[in-house]
Amino acid sequence: MKRVLKEHDTGSAVCPKCRVLAKTTYRYRDISLTSPKLRVRRVLVGVCDKCRGTVTIPWQSNERIQSAVRVARGRAESAGRIEARVPSDLYERLRLITTKLEARDEAFAHVMLRFYLSQLSRSPKFATRVRRLSVVREGSRASQRVSLRVSGKLYDQALKQAQACGVTDQSALVRGLIAAAYEDVFTNSSPQRRAVLECLADATS
Ligand SMILES: [Zn+2]
Repeated sequence: MKRVLKEHDTGSAVCPKCRVLAKTTYRYRDISLTSPKLRVRRVLVGVCDKCRGTVTIPWQSNERIQSAVRVARGRAESAGRIEARVPSDLYERLRLITTKLEARDEAFAHVMLRFYLSQLSRSPKFATRVRRLSVVREGSRASQRVSLRVSGKLYDQALKQAQACGVTDQSALVRGLIAAAYEDVFTNSSPQRRAVLECLADATS
């Protein structure tokens, strides 16, 4: 079985900076990677006692770094992006929801839209309501851009459900989601969802 190192253990390794076989001590350090761009916190590494440079990365830390890289790559590959254009009045409604719930702007709007997507993917009834609300009034110009990153799983499930209900483009989908949220908050059509929104607002403020 491989030896598991711990903080303050000592060893020796050739330090590339000091160019000698240096005494090393194992310490926790944050490691920054460039590809993928990633910061792995508190990784146990061998530090040169003389110059304080990182000289060795033990196997256990290597495994942690590899695993963080795999997770980051997987996330990047499986993520989906929803791009929509919405009329200015709906965009303002999105802002009004945020204000009403005293939440932090962008962060809350994104969390809320993900929550509504997840509701839609679970409920055909909710999806039908979103379709009904996605209809735009004539003459309203879709002038505002909404861009939302979601997990691959949520993206697939929500878009499948939306399509099954006749919502075929992402702009219509986002219009319907914002209009549904606005109704939930301002007419209290769903006290349950309103309560969840209040929790999300607290969690992102
Ligand atoms: Zn050194």
